[in-house]
Amino acid sequence: MSATRQARLVAVEDRSEHVFDSIRAFLRLHRLSPDPAHYAFAHRVFCNPDGALAQSVATLTEGGVRLTARDIQTLGGQIGALTVGDPAATAEPGHADTLVAQTQMQVEGFTDMVRRVRADTEDFGRDLAASADAMRAGGGADNVIVLTGLMLSRVQAAEARLAAATSEADQLREKLEEARGDARRDPLTGLPNRRAFEETFAERIQAGGTICLAVCDVDRFKRVNDQFGHSVGDRVLRAIADALTEACPEHFVGRYGGEEFIILFSGLELPAARAMLESARMSVAGKRYRLRESDAPLGAVTFSGGLTEAEPGEVLGAVFGRADKLLYAAKDGGRNRVYAG
Ligand code: GH3
Ligand code: MG
Ligand code: MG
Repeated sequence: MSATRQARLVAVEDRSEHVFDSIRAFLRLHRLSPDPAHYAFAHRVFCNPDGALAQSVATLTEGGVRLTARDIQTLGGQIGALTVGDPAATAEPGHADTLVAQTQMQVEGFTDMVRRVRADTEDFGRDLAASADAMRAGGGADNVIVLTGLMLSRVQAAEARLAAATSEADQLREKLEEARGDARRDPLTGLPNRRAFEETFAERIQAGGTICLAVCDVDRFKRVNDQFGHSVGDRVLRAIADALTEACPEHFVGRYGGEEFIILFSGLELPAARAMLESARMSVAGKRYRLRESDAPLGAVTFSGGLTEAEPGEVLGAVFGRADKLLYAAKDGGRNRVYAG
């Protein structure tokens, strides 16, 4: 190997070692775990010390302020998303997993911030004690001014982080509410799903008052799919969901699953609930569905229903079982009808 080449190799090795040492010191200083995302971030800072990222880091850490994992995430987002250890960057957008991953990251960021504020407060207490000691010992005014300045900047840093933590908490709350809503909504029709129905039933039966439950099943729905395709079937399900919601205002209308819908009538005795369900049935049966593309008629789409009143404190299984039996009697009785009992 030539002397020049050897010298060049030694220089490269020196530089790598220097970068490695700097990264290690950086992670230690900012109390960051040595996971790949943090390491990659530090690597980018030290490999391009004049770059925008290094400058942002220098501005943020001025006056000895420690970086948080959240700061790194924010900076990474500005300068090119971190892909290592960033589940949000690899998951499909809009997917529930993404929401969970984002929320998890936010919780971590939030925890980081709170920890940082606590550390700042401890440091502040120490400065305060030192300042008091300096005053007691008759230390020069300069000394007191320096310490007070330090304390002031710590208070400002803590205030900024608390404001950021509050906004993080607000965002987190919104995301969790969104996730909670998604878990209880049927994505096809936008109606509350079976889970939401079970929770609502439990709440209402516990609260007391009259409850009637209707279980409705679309008649010969398989034919709609077979004849016109699944996406037309989906559109029909949406139209039925809208018609039921419109016909039973102020009552709980949900999609139980497949082509089955449930309605929880609150504050209505069986005859009144039956009248409302009948008008819903007639409204659905009276609609003239047409293919959007060709305007060809789909023919009538009907549903059958079983309706029953819950006894006070009765469990869902028993009420549902009764309504379901009535539904199947209505199917046997010729479909497009409601049986109540
Ligand atoms: P019945 O009058 O006895 O209820 O007859 P049916 O054809 O409605 O009953 P069956 O249970 O045999 O078929 C229900 C069909 O509903 C089969 C299934 O493919 C369809 N289905 C369930 N969920 C959906 C959905 O989300 N979209 C579409 N397009 N079809 C669905
Ligand atoms: Mg069915
Ligand atoms: Mg059916």
